Amino acid sequence: MKDAQQARVRWHQLSLYIDNHLHDRYLAPPLTLVVAALLTLWVPVWQAVLWAGLELVAIAVYTCVYLQFRRAAKPLDEAVWVRRIAWAHGVHMAMWSSIVVWAYVPGNLTSLMFVMLVHVGLISLTVVMSNPHRRLLMSDLVAPTVALVAPPLLDGTLFSAGLALLGIFYIALMLMVGLKIHASSTETLVLRERNSELISELEQQLKTDGLTGLKNRDHFITTARNELERHARYQQPVALLMVDIDHFKQINDTYGHLAGDEVLKAVSNVFVDMVRTSDCLARLGGEEFAVLMPQTGLDAAMAAAERLRMAVAKVRCPLDEDVVAPTVSVGIAIAPDGNETLSSLMRRSDLAMYDAKGRGRNCVVVAPDRNAKQVA
Ligand code: GH3
Ligand code: MG
Ligand code: MG
Repeated sequence: MKDAQQARVRWHQLSLYIDNHLHDRYLAPPLTLVVAALLTLWVPVWQAVLWAGLELVAIAVYTCVYLQFRRAAKPLDEAVWVRRIAWAHGVHMAMWSSIVVWAYVPGNLTSLMFVMLVHVGLISLTVVMSNPHRRLLMSDLVAPTVALVAPPLLDGTLFSAGLALLGIFYIALMLMVGLKIHASSTETLVLRERNSELISELEQQLKTDGLTGLKNRDHFITTARNELERHARYQQPVALLMVDIDHFKQINDTYGHLAGDEVLKAVSNVFVDMVRTSDCLARLGGEEFAVLMPQTGLDAAMAAAERLRMAVAKVRCPLDEDVVAPTVSVGIAIAPDGNETLSSLMRRSDLAMYDAKGRGRNCVVVAPDRNAKQVA
């Protein structure tokens, strides 16, 4: 997978992680209050209130970081965001797990059960919500893992050692489940990336002429129609150049079809170099090309067509032992206020191009305007 795709997948994973955890902002505060109430069974009320206060601040901090991330949406900053989120969420996890320090009374089974059950729940929630991001899943599990296993180990009884072992199994199972979900969601994201890449490649191919890489006839028709409509709305001029390579059949007949293809490519490259990016250049078929020039009147169109003709005349294609010098004939039609159908504009420029053929080829002819006045 390409670097850019990998970066997008990582960003999606982080976004999924954030989406999951943003739901937590509704669950975490009431849960904090319930746990604080239970804490009062082991600590003075002020300590429970202090713990709840600190935890609510931690929740507010990570919620702010998550909301900032949602607004940022810049895949390049992924590594920075992972660090920021690991810190913000890590503090929250550490606060939760700090109830071990407050509530765990060595030798007291009820307090041991309370601490362990809170962390069993916390580990499940963490696996469910953090699995989209492997690194954050791991770092999120550190504090609850220590808090689940340490108290029974410290207890020193055989029963507590069994509980610690059970805790370790539980964590291992949850980690395995979390990593499996992570792998399958990553696969889905990778497939999604490949699909969207394939779709955009196909869309590009549908618009492109395979031999020359220029836009094809279908794309030209659609784009030119839109351009004409836009220009008619603003009463702006549009020029259409119809360009045809002269005596191309002779080139094919003399040097073969593949050599003819090389000439087509060489001439197309000249067009690409000469035509403005705002113009719509396409291969209409065979050795025929069209250039639609937005906001272009007669003088500018004639100058552009002449430049194009002269540039092609300078091309030299070495074929077999010979050097072929292709030329083009150009027909120009202008829609002065954009108010003409594409088929009429194409017909007029086509006729002008045939006129250029009749005048000896390698020249530019302007179509009479629609009021039938000959311009050149
Ligand atoms: P004119 O100066 O009057 O335009 O003459 P021409 O020989 O260029 O025109 P004509 O229409 O007689 O011949 C065009 C030739 O272009 C015929 C066709 O075989 C060839 N052609 C069409 N598409 C391709 C292509 O993709 N590759 C090659 N090599 N030749 C092509
Ligand atoms: Mg031709
Ligand atoms: Mg032709």
